Amino acid sequence: MKSLKERILRDGKCFPGGILKVDSFINHQMDPILMKSIAVEFVRRFASEPINKIITVEASGIAPAIMVGYLLELPVVFAKKKRPSTMENMLSTTVFSFTKNRSYEICVSRDYLGPGDKVLFIDDFLANGNAAKGILDLAKQAGAEVAGMGFIIEKAFQHGGEELRNMGIHVESLAVIESLDNCEIRFKQQ
Ligand code: 5GP
Repeated sequence: MKSLKERILRDGKCFPGGILKVDSFINHQMDPILMKSIAVEFVRRFASEPINKIITVEASGIAPAIMVGYLLELPVVFAKKKRPSTMENMLSTTVFSFTKNRSYEICVSRDYLGPGDKVLFIDDFLANGNAAKGILDLAKQAGAEVAGMGFIIEKAFQHGGEELRNMGIHVESLAVIESLDNCEIRFKQQ
């Protein structure tokens, strides 16, 4: 997606350890016009998939997910990172975050993810694929199907995308970064 790549080159900031910061338009301050274009592109790329629900993980996935849900007129569920004391029928799994270097639990109620659901997972970044694998686990526990996974930015040098595609999952990433070596953003030719 050309406009997204241009924005990443203009406003993205590299940090040591292969981290890209996009706080001025995705992860802290958000650009709703760009977010809408991102959602339109996801809708186009997943047009052939039967989907009845969008799923994401709080917090950064919520903005793109709600835009996709709005366009498709489908409900959006986000996996919570804190176990609410009042949540019943809960499914949970553990996810390792390499940016925070610790594991955390994500959970979702069986009331909102169950057999017969065909979900599209939307998230901001795909790195090692741990959040995505957590969603696959929650879907499996719920008896739901993952129809596809869409990411705004994929860091191909961390191989989560390769693993998910090898599992036969329909993965779409709107900007694929091949390398952040020497703090230079290099996109994969798509
Ligand atoms: P994964 O679970 O695929 O290893 O990592 C994806 C998650 O980690 C995303 O939900 C995102 O929040 C975070 N993440 C991974 N890499 C980056 C990065 O380079 N920049 C930012 N801002 N978040 C990242």
